[in-house]
Amino acid sequence: MFDLQSRSVLVTGGSKGIGRGIAGVFARAGADVAVAARSAAGLDETVAALDELGPGKVVGVRVDVSDRQSCTEMAATVIDAFGGLDVLCANAGIFPDAPLATMTVEQLNEIMGINVNGTFFAVQACLDALIASGSGRIILTSSITGPITGYPGWSHYGATKAAQLGFMRTAAIELAPHKITVNAILPGNIMSEGMAENGEEYIASMARSIPAGALGTPEDIGHLAAFLATAEAAYITGQSIAVDGGQVLPESLDAIIN
Ligand code: NAP
Repeated sequence: MFDLQSRSVLVTGGSKGIGRGIAGVFARAGADVAVAARSAAGLDETVAALDELGPGKVVGVRVDVSDRQSCTEMAATVIDAFGGLDVLCANAGIFPDAPLATMTVEQLNEIMGINVNGTFFAVQACLDALIASGSGRIILTSSITGPITGYPGWSHYGATKAAQLGFMRTAAIELAPHKITVNAILPGNIMSEGMAENGEEYIASMARSIPAGALGTPEDIGHLAAFLATAEAAYITGQSIAVDGGQVLPESLDAIIN
């Protein structure tokens, strides 16, 4: 059961945080893993670390997912390296804050371009290979923010994460005849490099609002991604699953016992 050894996997935004955690879980399970991001420095360090984890190949690819041509080139490089592609984890995303009252067109376009267009472009670029796989998997990193919750300063971000779920439901129907499943993981607050930029006060207040009492790890997300990539998960499609230590459950902070 749960054999990922013969699978090839591409993780966008795989050089840091959640993406690197996802890539690490797949590498440990013996899969061939490609990580893609904009910065070469982050990629080189991540590829070296992932190489230590398992017997599969590890490849780093530079990409800006908001650029369609860049996604096409990313997919070509990975498919060439692995001889195909079975699993796309469309994870790259940004979460700068911007209050609604002062949000600029540039801020809105940037986050839509990476989080929403980037999801479309990455999926479209990998589609032929995922169809050829015969058991392709698309796993989106959405968020609890937008689909379930809100937070001041992140109206644009929440909109992008909810948009990914709208995309997912129709994509799941369109791709079902090709035996491709499309699912979304909704992380709660996960300790990543991007999360660290929110500051200690934000992180401490988030920890207090999580019934499990602490932020999650990138590997917590990776374990669900790995399961969704298995043969055993072939009948699960179009679904969103929160991985959040129970964060969306309490009706008030008083409901949390810790
Ligand atoms: P992170 O630590 O900032 O890592 C983001 C990754 O995405 C990096 O590898 C970054 O590398 C890459 N990236 C950013 N923009 C890109 C672009 N235009 N093209 C290609 N790669 C790009 O962030 P994270 O916390 O791991 O978040 C990852 C995903 O999880 C995002 O989609 C985010 O919305 C989602 N999420 C995170 C949390 C959380 O608590 N951390 C919660 C819910 C959802 P470069 O900068 O070098 O490109």
